[in-house]
Amino acid sequence: MTPATATSPKPETAAPVLELRGVTKTYRVKQGLFGKARPLTAVNDVSISLPRGEVLGLVGESGCGKSTLAKILLGLESPTAGQVLVDGQEIGAQDRMTLARRIQPIFQDPYSSLNPRKSIFDIVSLPLRVHRIGDAASWDKEVRKILDIVGLPARVMNTFPSQMSGGQRQRVAIARALIMKPEIVICDEPTSALDVSVQSQILNLLGDLRREFGLTYLFISHDLAVVEHLATRVAVMYLGRIVEEAEVGGLFDHARHPYTQALLKSVLTPEPGLGVPDTQLGMAYPNPIDPPSGCHFHPRCPKATEFCKATAPRALPTPLGHVECHLHDPTGPMFIGKEG
Ligand code: SF4
Repeated sequence: MTPATATSPKPETAAPVLELRGVTKTYRVKQGLFGKARPLTAVNDVSISLPRGEVLGLVGESGCGKSTLAKILLGLESPTAGQVLVDGQEIGAQDRMTLARRIQPIFQDPYSSLNPRKSIFDIVSLPLRVHRIGDAASWDKEVRKILDIVGLPARVMNTFPSQMSGGQRQRVAIARALIMKPEIVICDEPTSALDVSVQSQILNLLGDLRREFGLTYLFISHDLAVVEHLATRVAVMYLGRIVEEAEVGGLFDHARHPYTQALLKSVLTPEPGLGVPDTQLGMAYPNPIDPPSGCHFHPRCPKATEFCKATAPRALPTPLGHVECHLHDPTGPMFIGKEG
């Protein structure tokens, strides 16, 4: 097998491989049996541009809209507004089969994402069989090759997920995603269900595969430490909005948004592998059906003022990204200066 762009690089195009333009997703949600349906905006006017071969780390707490965004990218949900483009083509204009060949997911829990009644061969070869690519002989060959690439011996082909460790199962999930030679892989918390020692092995494997096959990842995580390991850019999400985006070094060295700063501090808490960052922000994450006024982060922000409660910040350009916070708006009353 020759996955992705290893031996047949695609020509450089001006368009990024993945682009989101003003993507919004709103649901109608009923509270209680007789409650009136109210709008819940899970993703709010998100714009992202991802060049080929890059890794965008998408970070935020549970409920911030990360998983909804992943579903939109996988064609499992349609945006209420905005556009998603792959290689400059809107995904709404591509059928599900075509999209599945270009974008593949790796999910958080290798225990539930693999069918326990199917052999590893059946699981890994399924995308080829669904898409009618090759025949029985080629499936055997392709599965052996991809298992070798992800570091599993061919003998596991006839075993079942229950006979494998968590790390081995996640390698199987990666093999299943890559056998389609996708351009983009959506990694949705792919290491958070694994032991800490196995996490780094899977992260290293994903990094190696990206370099070898020119893959582009959207890497979703609640854990900035994990994202720092792999990402080239980072987007921080809060209540459906990207509140800060930057090249990875810039964000870790000079986080501008108070929420990003809180997430960075949470990385340093004594038990970073617990699954939810302890942001030390005091208040619980707000209910997205009833978002706070003005800047949605103001009830938890240590730097909030009355102005923040009344006025939503706008997206402001930074040297390698953007930030949404009045502290960085040179035209507003809270500006703290260029280097703030
Ligand atoms: Fe905090 Fe105000 Fe900035 Fe929002 S706009 S992050 S409340 S300082």
